[in-house]
Amino acid sequence: MSGLLIGCHLSTASGYAQMAADAVSIGATTFAFFTRNPRGGNARALDEKDLAAFLSTCSEHGMGPLVAHAPYTYNLCSAKPETVEFARRAMREDLERMERMPGNLYNFHPGSHVKQGADEGVRLICEGLNEVLVPGQATTVLLETMAGKGTEVGRSFEELARIIDGVGHDELLGVCLDTCHVVDAGYDIVSDLDGVLDEFDRVIGLSRLRALHLNDSKNPLGSHKDRHERIGQGTLGLETFRAVVSNERLRDLPMVLETPQDGLAGWAAEIALLRRLASGEEVE
Ligand code: FE
Ligand code: FE
Ligand code: ZN
Repeated sequence: MSGLLIGCHLSTASGYAQMAADAVSIGATTFAFFTRNPRGGNARALDEKDLAAFLSTCSEHGMGPLVAHAPYTYNLCSAKPETVEFARRAMREDLERMERMPGNLYNFHPGSHVKQGADEGVRLICEGLNEVLVPGQATTVLLETMAGKGTEVGRSFEELARIIDGVGHDELLGVCLDTCHVVDAGYDIVSDLDGVLDEFDRVIGLSRLRALHLNDSKNPLGSHKDRHERIGQGTLGLETFRAVVSNERLRDLPMVLETPQDGLAGWAAEIALLRRLASGEEVE
């Protein structure tokens, strides 16, 4: 088994302990989960026994840093003050909860500026993060690279860099690179992965890159559509993923699959596939 930290997005519906057991059952060494119902709403209270069992399964199986995901409904740069206020409050609560599982990552979509313009979007996102982040917290907050669908902020490395620049406690911030999203945004990792990483390094700094979302894409470079595909079945193709999992600047990062699958078996197969690619095996 290669040393990749790899897993997929899992459900908390049957509890945290069951989620960790699911991860083990599919050969995962990290995973992602929504911090509350993806449509927003209130988070269920943490069950202490469930949390303890979850933590012990994760440590027993050497799970790498987990990559929790904020619900898609949070929008720190909405034009509606109540939506902004909800996102700030919910993120603060999510991060308080994350303190119970210290040392992990919390990924969120920077937001959609809804016709206010990217400058105002960046300003509001910075204002929100400055309110939400707590100095000394045990969780690193990750900005996700976005496809640039609609008015999404974070469609370029420059926009992400501007957000990081505008946050006081930027030591608490990192970036999660989504392979489908960056291709949708126009970064050609298919023909020039190293060139894109050089650009990331120049604009943001590679030390900020803390996690990857591994998704193939249904659409071509620059399409701004955000439609994920199974690994090897989209426009990125198997060889792109072979390059990603063997790249010395990427291979030690936690990698999370967000591909369309019907159940755990599909992700188990994809995890195994990526481990074979990482170890240089021929894969048809
Ligand atoms: Fe995401
Ligand atoms: Fe993603
Ligand atoms: Zn996506």
